[in-house]
Amino acid sequence: MRLRYAPEDEAFRAELDRWLDEHQPSDERVHEPKQSSAHMPQWARDWQRALFDAGWLVPGWSPELGGRNATPTQQMIYFEEMSSREILRSANPQGLGIIAPSINDYGTPEQKERFLVPTLRAEISWCLGMSEPGAGSDLASLKTRAELIGDEFVVNGQKVWTSGAHHADWCLCFVRTDPAAPKHKGISALIIDTTAPGVERRPFPELSDNEFCDFNEVFFTDVRVPKENLMGPLNGGWPITQGSLAHERAMLWITYAYDVQRAVKALVELGKSEGPNGKPLGEDARYRDAVAGFYVDAQALMTMGYRGFSKFLKGKSAPEHSLLKLYGSESLQKALLFGMEALGMEELDLACFGPQMWREGSWAIQYLRSFGATIPGGTSEIQRNIIAERVLGLPRA
Ligand SMILES: Cc1cc2nc3c(=O)[nH]c(=O)nc-3n(C[C@H](O)[C@H](O)[C@H](O)COP(=O)(O)OP(=O)(O)OC[C@H]3O[C@@H](n4cnc5c(N)ncnc54)[C@H](O)[C@@H]3O)c2cc1C
Repeated sequence: MRLRYAPEDEAFRAELDRWLDEHQPSDERVHEPKQSSAHMPQWARDWQRALFDAGWLVPGWSPELGGRNATPTQQMIYFEEMSSREILRSANPQGLGIIAPSINDYGTPEQKERFLVPTLRAEISWCLGMSEPGAGSDLASLKTRAELIGDEFVVNGQKVWTSGAHHADWCLCFVRTDPAAPKHKGISALIIDTTAPGVERRPFPELSDNEFCDFNEVFFTDVRVPKENLMGPLNGGWPITQGSLAHERAMLWITYAYDVQRAVKALVELGKSEGPNGKPLGEDARYRDAVAGFYVDAQALMTMGYRGFSKFLKGKSAPEHSLLKLYGSESLQKALLFGMEALGMEELDLACFGPQMWREGSWAIQYLRSFGATIPGGTSEIQRNIIAERVLGLPRA
């Protein structure tokens, strides 16, 4: 099988390449330390704004929304190019990748005007208030309560793991508005000002990082939210939690595939260096076998990704998403663990894996960070449940 793109798609890639060659931020900028996933330094705002103005921010959308009505294949080419150059579109990925599409799909015309374009132009930043101490994988158990009193919702409760909340201007927060309804049916989505009286954001440190502090607990005590900040129908917030990313999700595998390829490249380089026994690591048969295995994983991910994408183009449902999330995030983790073990204790925290997507770090740090991919968006165990039940047809446990 030979995969080839149509001439107009290759022209799209060439135009993007030319634009990126001219405009992409310097390596020094891209690898500057970031404080959280909603911390937007001025240069990152300028970069996102430049993408928006040129129609390269969300290529599948219309020019008014930072796009150019690109076809799905062209959008895939876009993600290939961005991943291979290690460029992030936004310093606030949850704002651009999850919340902007949700506003576009579910927001009122007033909400679109007030929030959508300012989000796309990096004028405002967001956090996502879903998880709670008793509601993670089973999100529908969330308890944060919002009561409609007059023209306002009054919110009480707690969220946790809220990435970037201490730097975010707004929170898209999922709350229980009907405690008597079945649990999926009494949930609503509210847009909450993170500086409103009664909102307390408590960032807490991560084991994997000294500088980057992303997680927060967020407490709500009698927080008053105007009724017009309800997004989607009252008690109809569940479909929004399922994400408005269906069209982009079919291409997210590219990031996993490129991450594993990058880890393989780093292992090949590491194999040329001296191991604890004074010889190049790559001379060891176990090292060679393992790295070849990770290379096969990376190729399999690419092939599986293209297969899923081709089904998506034909309008068929593609279970590959769960397979790719599971296989991609775990393959990366295994490769990083292998590199860490090969280095041995003495080098563990010194040898730099190389700059990766705005966050530099040693092999050990990158390994710890890799858990960040196996947990959100459905943990590995949840992906295995989905594959067992929906792909293989095994009975529900
Ligand atoms: C990097 C990162 C960023 C995040 N950012 C955000 C954010 O911005 N906003 C937000 O709201 N949340 C965020 N989260 C939280 C994330 O959504 C939750 O961690 C995730 O949904 C899992 O929930 P939990 O941590 O409560 O674990 P639990 O759901 O309590 O799970 C604990 C363990 O039990 C397993 N398990 C649970 N249910 C089952 C089952 N049915 N079958 C088999 N095993 C099961 C899980 O796989 C896991 O190993 C983030 C998490 C991470 C790691």
